[in-house]
Amino acid sequence: MADKKIFLGEEFLPTQWYNLNADFPNPMPPPLHPGTGKPPTPEDFAPIFPMNLVEQEMTPDRWVDIPEEVLGVYKIWRPTPLYRADRLEKALDAPVKIYFKNEGVSPPGSHKPNTAVAQAYYNKAFGVKRIMTETGAGQWGSALAFACQIFEIELKVFMVRVSFDQKPYRRIMMETWGAECFPSPTNTTEAGRKILEMNPDSPGSLGIAISEAVELAVKREDTRYALGSVLNHVMLHQSVIGLETKRQLEAIGDYPDVIIGCAGGGSNFAGLAFPFIADKIAGKEIQIIAAEPTSCPTLTRGPYAYDFGDTNQTTPLLPMYTLGHDFIPAPIHAGGLRYHGMAPMVSHCVREKLVEARPYDQMETFEAGITFARSEGFISAPETCHAIASVIEVAKQAKEEGKEKTILFNWSGHGLVDMASYDAYLSNKLQPYSLPDEEIARALKAIEGLPKIA
Ligand SMILES: *Cc1c(COP(=O)(O)O)cnc(C)c1O
Repeated sequence: MADKKIFLGEEFLPTQWYNLNADFPNPMPPPLHPGTGKPPTPEDFAPIFPMNLVEQEMTPDRWVDIPEEVLGVYKIWRPTPLYRADRLEKALDAPVKIYFKNEGVSPPGSHKPNTAVAQAYYNKAFGVKRIMTETGAGQWGSALAFACQIFEIELKVFMVRVSFDQKPYRRIMMETWGAECFPSPTNTTEAGRKILEMNPDSPGSLGIAISEAVELAVKREDTRYALGSVLNHVMLHQSVIGLETKRQLEAIGDYPDVIIGCAGGGSNFAGLAFPFIADKIAGKEIQIIAAEPTSCPTLTRGPYAYDFGDTNQTTPLLPMYTLGHDFIPAPIHAGGLRYHGMAPMVSHCVREKLVEARPYDQMETFEAGITFARSEGFISAPETCHAIASVIEVAKQAKEEGKEKTILFNWSGHGLVDMASYDAYLSNKLQPYSLPDEEIARALKAIEGLPKIA
């Protein structure tokens, strides 16, 4: 019988991160400064991020050394196990092998501390005393709270109001690790007050929360902002996932035909997929799928265009698939997937046809999560359920076509603090939800007048 899980010893923890930017056949379009219309200089980012992270954001290097201090913290939970989902295979009765990388074993329960720890370390090394950030479902806020506590940095988190109300346990986790957490929009920032004037009951959005955090970060010399996804340096830090997975598969002499991850801002997907995309660029045949919600279908229905990363138009213009910076998504339960944009690196992969994107409805994703819980046992984060829905779809198709396939997916986190959303599904309180066409038209309006991608 094949092993259920493949462990790596700590001596196999990657000592360098991988940067796919070094291997793109066609380079990514640069970000643009909204004022000058030219690529931003490192100094443009200086009020927002510490310079050591700005350098990483722009680096063309293929490999970047992981600092000893970061490796020391990674060792709390890394290398993470790779599982063979043989019980799910049996439940699906399809000619497939399924593997999943378990990123839910970190203290906060997701892949997010891979970058949170690195970012806290670099901020500390640069002399930053306080960090401002936003969080959707609370996963990023809790990951950064864990990391800032280790490196003794003060942290304030703006949490999207709808999640703040739905998910008190994530806030309590942040507070346990010593951070402060506020429901966004707040009346403590101009950005927040502007939204509240228009709609006092605003459910909030990641874009609004980012605006609030950035506004406070740039006000003080000892304060910076941190982002949990989307940016190049976040994709870089997450590459440990795929690098470990390659070693693990090598150890058992296997290699995937299909790789799947859910995509909100794109970081867990990129973390698993990018080291394999290097192989794809070199000629390997791999199908790579980014799974997203039908309620926030950035990659499958949004235009590829320059847009702001936040509602208040304070960030540089990023080349990405976008639903418009003023997009306020429906309050579905996969909070971590409710962002209007998508990482420029992931967007570029889709544009270049290295990656395909597929949308999944929340009914289908929770059903997939239940199938997984009743076969493999683990209860998945609602975001992760999108990847599982995609795995099941691919497996069913393989069965119809009578084709054998090896599928690898990223189990980005557990759902143990998301049981209210499982409750809503199990007690028939959820409905299918697909973004109306009018919303796509509105997205196009929001980016009208911004520079076009050449
Ligand atoms: C935040 C989160 C996501 C979505 O963010 P990405 O940057 O797209 O990875 C997915 N799964 C889990 C468990 C998360 O916490």
